[in-house]
Amino acid sequence: MVELINVSYSYEDKVALKDINLKIEKGELCVIVGPNGSGKSTLVSVICGIYKPDKGVVKLFGKEDHNHFRKKISFVPQKVSSFNQLFPISVKETVLLGLVPQKGYFKGFSSQDLKKVDEILQKLDLIEFKEKQLGKLSGGQQQRVFIARALISEPELLILDEPTVGIDSKSEEILYKLLLEQKAKNTTIVMVTHDIFAIKSYADKIICMKDGEILTICGAQEFSVKKYKQIYFED
Ligand code: ADP
Ligand code: MG
Repeated sequence: MVELINVSYSYEDKVALKDINLKIEKGELCVIVGPNGSGKSTLVSVICGIYKPDKGVVKLFGKEDHNHFRKKISFVPQKVSSFNQLFPISVKETVLLGLVPQKGYFKGFSSQDLKKVDEILQKLDLIEFKEKQLGKLSGGQQQRVFIARALISEPELLILDEPTVGIDSKSEEILYKLLLEQKAKNTTIVMVTHDIFAIKSYADKIICMKDGEILTICGAQEFSVKKYKQIYFED
C-alpha cells in the first residue's frame, strides 16, 4: 500500500528525513513514534504527497502517481485549528469537504452525502454542532470535526498525525473504535501518536523515528515501552 525507497527530505536549513525505507501493507495499522522534531509529520506529509522528496521514491498502491490516488487517501494533519480563521465555515461544510476529491467541484452534494454527514457526526458525538461555525468549537471538538472529514470518504488509506492531542478520553475511545471499524474494512491506517496504550493495543507495526531516521520497525509484541522511553533521553 505504501512503500518508501531511500527517501530524503530537507527544509531550507534542516534535513528532516534521511534515507527512509519502509513498507506498509494493505489493512495494516501502522504507528509512527518518536520525539518532537524527529521527522514524523514530515514523513506523513511525504507519504500523502504534500511534500515531494528531494531524493528517493514514494509508491502508493504500487505506483508513483499520487494525484491518481487522491480520492482514496484521507489525511488528518497535526494541529488543524487555524483552518477556520480563513473563512467562516460550518461544521457540516467542513465535513463535506472530505467528499470534494471524489465528487469534483461542480457536481454539488446529494441527499445521500448529507446523510453521510449526519451519520459520521452522530458517531463522533458532534451532531449538535452541525450548523455551528467551526471556529466557535473548542480545539478538541474541531479536531474531531477533522477526523469526521477524513472518514466520510471511506478512504483506503487513512493517515492521522497525532489525532488524540487535545481530545478528551471519551472522544479518544470513540476514535479508536472508529479506527478499528475502518481496519475491519481493510483500510490501511498510518497514525503518528505518543499514546502508549494505542501503540500496545492496536498497532500491527511500529515505526520508531529519531533525528530524521528510522531507528526500528517492529510489531506490538516486540515493542518495549522501556526502550521506547530511553529514546527520548539518550543522545
Ligand atoms: P515531528 O513531527 O516528529 O515533531 P517534524 O517532521 O515536524 O517532526 O519536523 C522535523 C524537523 O524539521 C524538525 O527539526 C523541525 O524543526 C523541522 N521542520 C519542520 N517543519 C519545518 C518547516 N516548515 N520549515 C523548516 N523546518 C521545519
Ligand atoms: Mg509532528
